[in-house]
This record gives sequence, structure tokens and C-alpha cells, in this order.
Amino acid sequence: MSLERLTELVRDLQPCVVLTGAGVSTESGIPDFRSAEGIWARYDPMEYATIHAFLADPVKVWDFYGKRLHVLGDAEPNEGHRALAELEERGWVHAVITQNIDRLHERAGTRALVEVHGSIRTSSCLDCGAVVPFDEVVRLLADAPAPACPTCGRILKPDVVMFGELLPEAAIARASELASEARLMLVVGSTLEVYPVAGLPLETLATGGGLAIVNRGRTPLDGRAAVTIDAGAGETLRALADALSGRR
Ligand SMILES: [Zn+2]
Repeated sequence: MSLERLTELVRDLQPCVVLTGAGVSTESGIPDFRSAEGIWARYDPMEYATIHAFLADPVKVWDFYGKRLHVLGDAEPNEGHRALAELEERGWVHAVITQNIDRLHERAGTRALVEVHGSIRTSSCLDCGAVVPFDEVVRLLADAPAPACPTCGRILKPDVVMFGELLPEAAIARASELASEARLMLVVGSTLEVYPVAGLPLETLATGGGLAIVNRGRTPLDGRAAVTIDAGAGETLRALADALSGRR
């Protein structure tokens, strides 16, 4: 029943903009940092994930990130990522805004993508501005505990937003623009707890758009959604894509 409602909403309320969080990538084996079993339950984010921790001891932070990079590098897009790329291809999804840094939307074929928390695609030098791609960072990590800038030698910083850092200005501005223009915001796999991203659905609602939420567990905006589906991202998005192509 709720899938039918979601299908109707996507069909009737265009453009539809999708906002994804960690729940889209858990089926690819990438742990949700904030869950009870997540990484921040075992590692203190203050020690490993703030810009201050990084500036104080970049090698220690890379010791932590390096292990994650291997998990992220080995992960493959799942059915949810693929269904979203297919929905975009067929004109049902205008753009995807993601809190994820894992590149899986891009690898699944999503083209209109806004990564509001950055991405592991590159790392940068805070001194000379050199930008180093993921594969080279992985190579550098094979020989050293932390990747040094090929130009000046300073330890590189992954281009993901750390706690205590501002979000990339251009990305958040674009996300906000998309949210205001959307007639439907479809939230998938986000608990909508991290601001300012969690405020994007409010921008859609404020401009008269609708809200749909697919997430395991509740979110603070469930009461304002036209439909909420408490289920996995992969199965739901696949069913949605199939329904919109008349395969059900
Ligand atoms: Zn440098």
C-alpha cells in the first residue's frame, strides 16, 4: 500500500529530488557510523574525525581512515544505488543529494549528484593545494602510515567533511536550490539527524513540495511526510523503479 502511494507521489510530483544517507550504503557492507554498532560506538569521533584531531595528529587519523578506505574501495553499489541511477535515466529522479562519501552513487551511474559531506574520491594538501585521486592515495598508504603530498610532503587530508568543518559551500548551496525547486523530496536511508542536511526536506515543504521517507526506523520528520516506508533502501527503490516502469 505505501509503495503504491510512493509510486503515485513520484509520478505526480515532479521534479523529484532524492536525499540519501548511510542506510543506502549499509547493504553494500559499509557500516553506518552513527548506529549503535557503528564506528562511533567503538572509536571516539573527537579523537579520529574532527578537523582539530587531524591537524594535531594526521598520522593517527590516517591510521583510522586508511582501514576504512580499503572497505570503501572494495564496496560495490547495491540494488538501491542502481535503482536510483535507473530512475534518473528514465526521468523520474532529477538529482541525488547524498551525505555519503563512498562514491557508490557515482559508480552506479547517477549523474546529477551533490555530495554534501565530500567524498573519498580525492585527498588534498592543505599547504600547496595539490589534489590526489583515491587510487594514488591507496598506493601511498601501502608504503607509509599516512599519504604525503607528492609536491611538498605535507600529510594529505581526505576531501571528506570532518566534524568541526564547514560543509562545502557550493554543494550545500546547490542542495538547497534543489530542495526548494523539488515538488517531491524523497529521503532514503537517512535518520535526518545531521544538520544542515536534515533541514533540506523542510525547504521542500516550505515551498509547497511533498516529502516521502524510506528509512529503517523513525525520523523527526515522519509526521510531515506524505508517506513513510520502514524498510530497506535496496528492495524499496527496486520496487519503485519496477512500478514506475509498469513491471508490476
Ligand atoms: Zn603539498
